[in-house]
Amino acid sequence: MTTQIASVSEIFSSLQGEGTRMGERHLFVRFEKCNIHCDYCDELEKPGSDFDLESVLESILSLERQKGPHSYVSLTGGEPLVYRSFLKSLLPQLKQKGFKTYLETNGILWQALRDVLEWVDVVAMDVKPSSVTKEASYMESHRAFLKIALPKEVFIKMVCSKEIDLGEFKDLCLMIGQVCRDVPLLLQPVSTTVEGFQDAELMTLLGELQSIGLGILSDVRIVPRLHKILNIR
Ligand code: SF4
Repeated sequence: MTTQIASVSEIFSSLQGEGTRMGERHLFVRFEKCNIHCDYCDELEKPGSDFDLESVLESILSLERQKGPHSYVSLTGGEPLVYRSFLKSLLPQLKQKGFKTYLETNGILWQALRDVLEWVDVVAMDVKPSSVTKEASYMESHRAFLKIALPKEVFIKMVCSKEIDLGEFKDLCLMIGQVCRDVPLLLQPVSTTVEGFQDAELMTLLGELQSIGLGILSDVRIVPRLHKILNIR
């Protein structure tokens, strides 16, 4: 039986603070729970509550009336693809109502992506260096995920800390290049007690990573989080 309930932390309107569509007005649906646990994660402590499909749709339509138009409905988390069945119901309804959809994902659950991709317009996927997340390596899952995402507008975000292993970074760039060297790779300084862009040493390291990346890929950028700079939600 299809699950029509998802744990949602918040539904709100704001600027997109990350990635290639930074600055656009997006309507965010933040799902609780994730399939992994990154060392630096600042989202997992946000509690959620059970929402059925109708409640999520009503909240989206109401926010669109109050604060729209929004460029995209952005599904974020946590990891939205944990709720594969829910998304298979929600996404077609959003498309039917004329919304464009933007999926923010850790880029691991490729089977779930395959099931929902037809209703997604933009895929904002992470590639996770295990030297930064202190998690397992997801190299092969990321490879499968990127191959599936490619027919859509897609970019990759990589959160980088001073602990990043340069060999691992290069291997991840090579993997991306083997799938498609023109997918934008956005390097984001990790933020813990302070926003990463304020750490001069880390920003110097990101410059070095960008040079390595540009030896393999055609588009490697360094991008901090806009919503943290502007101090908005
Ligand atoms: S993938 Fe994202 S939501 Fe999940 S633990 Fe890592 S940073 Fe947090």
